[in-house]
Amino acid sequence: MPMQAKTPGVSFSPQQLVTGAAELITYEVDAGFDRGKPDAVFYPQSAADVSELVRWARANRLPVVARGAGTGLSGGAVPERGGVIVEFARMKQIVELNPTGRNGVVQSGVVNLALDAAARQLGFYYPPDPSSGRSSLIGGNLGENAGGPHCFKYGVTTNYITGVEAVLADGRILHSGGQAFDYPELDLTGLIVGSEGTLALVTTASIRLIRNPPAVKTLMVSFRSDEAAGAAVSAIIAAGLTPATLEMMDQKVMGMIEAYVQVGLPVEAQAALIVEVDGYPASLDSQVEEIAALLTAHGGYDLRIAQSEEERQRIWYGRKSAAGAFSRLAPAFYLVDVTVPRSLLAETLREIGQVLARYDLETGHVFHAGDGNLHPCILCDPRDAAQMERVFAATHEIVAICIAKDGSITGEHGVGIEKRQHMPAMYSTAELSAMRDVKLAFDPDHLLNPGKVLPDELSEPVYAAPTPLTNDVMAPRSVEEAAAILAACAVAPRRARIVSSAEQVDSSLCAGTLLLSSHALRGVQAFAPDDLYVTVGAGTPLTELAGFLAGRGFQAPFAAPWPAATVGGLVATNLNAPLRMRYGGWRDNVLAVQAALPDGRVIRAGRPVVKNVAGYDLVKLFVGSHGALGMMAAITLKLTPLPRRRLSLQVAVDDVLQGIRWAQATAACWLMTAGVVIDCDEYGCYHLTITLEGLPEDVRAEVDEITAALHGVGAGAVAMSEYTATARWCDHLCAAGENDLLLRVGVPPQHLALYWQMLPEAARRNGVWLVDVASGLLFVRRRVEDERAAMQWVEQVRQPATALRGYAAVQGEPIVRDERSPAADIVAALAQRWDRAGVLAQGSHSGRLL
Ligand SMILES: Cc1cc2nc3c(=O)[nH]c(=O)nc-3n(C[C@H](O)[C@H](O)[C@H](O)COP(=O)(O)OP(=O)(O)OC[C@H]3O[C@@H](n4cnc5c(N)ncnc54)[C@H](O)[C@@H]3O)c2cc1C
Repeated sequence: MPMQAKTPGVSFSPQQLVTGAAELITYEVDAGFDRGKPDAVFYPQSAADVSELVRWARANRLPVVARGAGTGLSGGAVPERGGVIVEFARMKQIVELNPTGRNGVVQSGVVNLALDAAARQLGFYYPPDPSSGRSSLIGGNLGENAGGPHCFKYGVTTNYITGVEAVLADGRILHSGGQAFDYPELDLTGLIVGSEGTLALVTTASIRLIRNPPAVKTLMVSFRSDEAAGAAVSAIIAAGLTPATLEMMDQKVMGMIEAYVQVGLPVEAQAALIVEVDGYPASLDSQVEEIAALLTAHGGYDLRIAQSEEERQRIWYGRKSAAGAFSRLAPAFYLVDVTVPRSLLAETLREIGQVLARYDLETGHVFHAGDGNLHPCILCDPRDAAQMERVFAATHEIVAICIAKDGSITGEHGVGIEKRQHMPAMYSTAELSAMRDVKLAFDPDHLLNPGKVLPDELSEPVYAAPTPLTNDVMAPRSVEEAAAILAACAVAPRRARIVSSAEQVDSSLCAGTLLLSSHALRGVQAFAPDDLYVTVGAGTPLTELAGFLAGRGFQAPFAAPWPAATVGGLVATNLNAPLRMRYGGWRDNVLAVQAALPDGRVIRAGRPVVKNVAGYDLVKLFVGSHGALGMMAAITLKLTPLPRRRLSLQVAVDDVLQGIRWAQATAACWLMTAGVVIDCDEYGCYHLTITLEGLPEDVRAEVDEITAALHGVGAGAVAMSEYTATARWCDHLCAAGENDLLLRVGVPPQHLALYWQMLPEAARRNGVWLVDVASGLLFVRRRVEDERAAMQWVEQVRQPATALRGYAAVQGEPIVRDERSPAADIVAALAQRWDRAGVLAQGSHSGRLL
């Protein structure tokens, strides 16, 4: 369609909206192989600009394609169906970085490495580190949920994004999440991350930072076979060690790199691993020693430990020169991106080798072994059509191999155009249709990046056949049974409510509602220590799972204040203990969920791998969903080795405010810290408790740093204790009786002191408080004797939190929706698609205070 820079009613300048054919050529491609012609490119400077552009494009029925730096490898930013590209490069402001809150706000056009560099100047670190970090933008990283070498230890982009400002397909500006943790809303932020610009255009992101580890050591080791290298990776993981990186290169790649940059790679070896450890200087030697012993025991030889920063950089320079090396040997290379459970790496490499040999293709492997994320790089010439056909046919087989091993068709490059044909092989029709429902809830007219992620044509999903509703309480033993019950409710129609145990429900408050109990969905279904995951029935008490794992040297890093609390119940209510500051919350640790949707579809969201960006991250929807979106039957969790040392420091403080200030004075030290709380004992004395866990040398070093920081602000004696911050939190929540009201208040952690000062004195006095300082969460309970007075109190607690862009919510109660927000419309549209009959439609469970 002909387009002018100036269009009646809209005020885009020629510098902002470019339509010249020559200038548009650059935007026909990203770093992959797909192509498409845009009609125009738009350079916004603000969310308002993007909003105006989207409204205009909508009126003119033009697709809108978000673009970062165009380094994507799956065609995500390629305007296959024309339209306007929105290029975010001019929105490159780091709006704020907060050392106390360990967070920040950045615009989408900030370059990944620029953010990390700014964070490091403050002693912090932004871990998602794609190799393209020098040029790729935060918006593009978000679009693809990018990962990198350090993601084995620290996680991928989604684990560091706590909120977004984004423009929706109708031009409205959505604010989802923010700088507080665990907003009582559906996690639309988690859904938008990795959605490849198909759900919304992100203009600003709230990010999380961690402390920059004070020391790092890198080593490289050779192996006589890929299998031996793979087995060594598994041995390191099984020993409970968590190196910062575990990167692998095969002989071919090393030969190619060495011919290119001569950094001294062990080219005669069949494979080499680059292992990096970090922490306090005191722990590095013993970490390296232990890892070296494991590597040698598994056939590793020629172990080289970088003795200087220069030597370390040389190793990494070699690893990062792979792309350049390939480019010298062939006109192009096709970089495949697939994931398998990491214990299957060696056999997968062998099978991939056989496929490529059959197709007469040359390749090399350089990949993130710790994550099971493989990247065969197939040398090719795009002008040779016959060869390219062989490349794509071989890729098809490689993808099938990974799907058969319960892996993913893409670990970090995204689906885009390239992989959408493979989506039906990885997902069932029910799963694909559930994703399509998400797309339609956000973008019913397919305006945003049309054609990406999902195939255009999807087969009809299978729905469970309704089962007779024999009882008012039903306890399915499988996801299929749960789906059949929900399907029957949809037909009846009858409301249902998902509970972990029907005994705990006051039946007078839910007359006529079917109680769907998870208590028969109990037990460990799969335990994979090499792959660091466990799958459990949703009705399994967390304490039971913790006991099972502890006996095997692992933990799922969560805590249950109530012994009967189930994994499903805790995921659904998104209740996170203070140790989440170290390990992340439920949203960061649930890898997969098997669920029955309210209309009778059975889906498995996610896969048992840490790197998986195939389609929308439906797992995020279930965390904190309060049973509104379906019944979780089984949950796959990431495992963490049990820490070798755990201890707590305890300091008496005068009051909560002093506790917050003293705790925050230690924030720059937190690396091993796994919980910082202030609470009050039965004698009215306040305590600050800081728990540390990890390797003994690291814990000792941090204890010294924290003690010095506390003395620096005037604290008296610092006592050692076994009573952890998380145990205090459990006791605090457990003390809430039947007639108590338990609120969770979340504020950006840097505003905790301000929040406390803004609270009316009476509101403070009338509750019993525990403050999780690192997460900016306050858990407060009070007895409800007078309902009206309690409601007034809730408002007093809520108002200052809301003013600081936080919230206050009744713990365990359904989500309170702000019906005026664009998010409410999206949630309603999704509910309409997943739950047309309103089977799981929420109401207040207790009818109280909401
Ligand atoms: C040499 C090389 C090395 C690489 N190494 C890695 C690696 O280690 N790990 C890794 O994960 N990837 C890697 N990649 C792939 C690529 O760099 C990443 O996917 C990166 O995150 C893309 O960022 P970008 O800014 O270039 O985004 P683009 O390619 O421009 O866009 C990517 C996707 O995000 C969407 N998008 C962009 N901006 C926004 C926005 N503001 N709002 C909503 N959606 C948006 C686009 O529509 C598109 O779907 C590599 C690529 C190359 C060329």
